[in-house]
Amino acid sequence: MNSPSSSPRADLVVVGAGIVGLAHAWHAVRAGLSVVVLDRDDRPVGASVRNFGHICTTAQAGVALAFAEVAREGWLRLAAEAGLGVRETGTLVIARTDAEMAVLDEFAAARPDEAELLTAASVGARGGWSAPGTVGGALLPRDLRVDAPTVIPALVAYLRTLGVQVRFGENVVAIEDGGVRTADSWFPAERVAVCVGHDVDRLFPEIAAGAEVRRCRLRMIEIDAPRGAVIDPAVFTGSSLLRYGGFSETRAAAAVRAELASDDPDVVSQVINLMCTQRPNGRVVIGDTHHYERTLDPFEDEDVDDMLITRFRRLFDVDELRVRRRWRGVYAASVHGPYLFARPNDAVLVASVTSGIGMTTALGFARDALERHGIL
Ligand SMILES: Cc1cc2nc3c(=O)[nH]c(=O)nc-3n(C[C@H](O)[C@H](O)[C@H](O)COP(=O)(O)OP(=O)(O)OC[C@H]3O[C@@H](n4cnc5c(N)ncnc54)[C@H](O)[C@@H]3O)c2cc1C
Repeated sequence: MNSPSSSPRADLVVVGAGIVGLAHAWHAVRAGLSVVVLDRDDRPVGASVRNFGHICTTAQAGVALAFAEVAREGWLRLAAEAGLGVRETGTLVIARTDAEMAVLDEFAAARPDEAELLTAASVGARGGWSAPGTVGGALLPRDLRVDAPTVIPALVAYLRTLGVQVRFGENVVAIEDGGVRTADSWFPAERVAVCVGHDVDRLFPEIAAGAEVRRCRLRMIEIDAPRGAVIDPAVFTGSSLLRYGGFSETRAAAAVRAELASDDPDVVSQVINLMCTQRPNGRVVIGDTHHYERTLDPFEDEDVDDMLITRFRRLFDVDELRVRRRWRGVYAASVHGPYLFARPNDAVLVASVTSGIGMTTALGFARDALERHGIL
């Protein structure tokens, strides 16, 4: 066997080229560090390119909101500096029951600068189509949108212009004293940031077990825009009000929870969050479902995709939806909270977003992780 080849020592080696790893690399290179990013795949194919591209700052609460605010600034800075496609579209929340509207009323009363309440008629005007049965809604104007499949490669390209070495096809097999080992190379490093999402259990099984990390699998479907609609903002519906702390922590959310459980129990049992975003080519990404396991079952029931499609046919008021693509995405999940941060030793930090808000918050979470690790 050939002895592993070695590279010059880097200040920081980042393992994983999803948004979490790239966010670490961006903050570190801006602070003047030499940075190498290693990813086992030939190009980005993880959760960071499979998502809605919804930077949903407003709906967050607690530490996630704090990270989301920093991340929002980060995305806008990246748009200005690097020309990344970051759009200030806001989020349209469609309320189709009085209980859902009550959550929006309570939220807007508490955070008046962040939500503009809408009548049913103005929901149609903002959204690009009139969702039947709408009783009202809200526009969250501060939220952003990116196109995930294109923005992540664009961020990689930008980091390279800043001097970050981003190397694909480098499967990290061990983090050791003084560096990182791949199958056939050794990357010496002062510090290492391990940002491998749900695969943290492969490299640091004890840390993953301590945080009870599981995999969350989501189903995603891309359709032709119904009637050619142009849907500028990201769209949330009533089920979204139960997923994000900013809404789910309102007093009024309990009634939405009870209403969904009695009127649409499949949404509850499949942990469905009916939301959509439109891609630059006009197609609309609809989703999603949530299925949690440490080892994901490989067999998937077509009925669950049918549940999504049926509900979007109702939302868009069309008889048929033309499906163009389907995919599954997986992210790390933990009952202990939305972030996993660990320092197995002085030189290594392990950082994962353990909730489905990495695009919204990773640029803030990474800065905090590097600060706590003494790098920034
Ligand atoms: C379907 C879906 C929709 C979502 N929608 C949104 C949304 O709209 N807004 C939002 O804020 N969040 C959303 N999320 C969540 C968000 O996408 C994730 O939180 C985020 O992408 C996680 O980033 P990551 O860098 O940890 O993971 P990933 O993007 O999966 O990156 C991890 C990388 O580590 C690499 N890796 C793993 N092991 C090794 C190894 N041993 N050696 C080298 N490399 C390794 C992998 O190849 C991978 O590239 C969604 C997630 C999914 C799945």
